[in-house]
Amino acid sequence: MTLSQILARIQHYADHYQRPADSVRLLAVSKTHSAAEIERLFKEGQPCFGENYLQEARPKIEALAAYPIEWHFIGRIQRNKTAPIANQFAWVHSVDTVNIAQRLSQQRPQHLPPLNICLQVNISREAGKAGVAPEEVPALAKAVSSLPRLHLRGLMAIPAPCNEFTEQRQPYRQLRLLLNDLQQDLQQQGLALDTLSMGMSADMEAAIAEGATWVRIGTALFGPRPT
Ligand SMILES: *Cc1c(COP(=O)(O)O)cnc(C)c1O
Repeated sequence: MTLSQILARIQHYADHYQRPADSVRLLAVSKTHSAAEIERLFKEGQPCFGENYLQEARPKIEALAAYPIEWHFIGRIQRNKTAPIANQFAWVHSVDTVNIAQRLSQQRPQHLPPLNICLQVNISREAGKAGVAPEEVPALAKAVSSLPRLHLRGLMAIPAPCNEFTEQRQPYRQLRLLLNDLQQDLQQQGLALDTLSMGMSADMEAAIAEGATWVRIGTALFGPRPT
């Protein structure tokens, strides 16, 4: 689909599920796609791009440095790669340990605003999958929210894939309820969490129905990735 078709679809679902105008934003997931494709979409009006692999992202970020693109890191974070992530991205959606969070905070350059953070939750409790267990979210949120160079924004999840709409909604509803609980806990500290990073090409409607504020869309926007 074209960018304007995707944006129209997001708007349609947002209206349909009575979400406030502009409450759902598009993160264009550009992994495996070239700097030229990103440049084209940026020029069409898409400001925010998500990348999974640092090695792949860095040359694209450098090639496109002339544009005010907002880069989001959405992949697994290796301990020894936190410094370039803290330097080159505005958001990280995939934080799931205190240690990684501490490193990102220490390494976030002073001249940049605090790094926006989502905690990745292993919402379907899949073995070997990235993300913190749902019951460990409050403790991790508390630790991350105290780090000076991070700005905790909310939660992210990649549920186990499924094709049925009602089933797709379940894990996203759980993530929304987890965020609600956290919002109540953290309100006393004056912290406002406002972000649910959830929904991909195949389950965007279910995620928007349940309150997604970022949908992370690759395939529907760029076409299939090379395997
Ligand atoms: C690849 C990826 C996406 C995009 O998935 P599509 O199905 O291509 O839309 C979203 N989020 C994460 C974390 C990804 O790795």
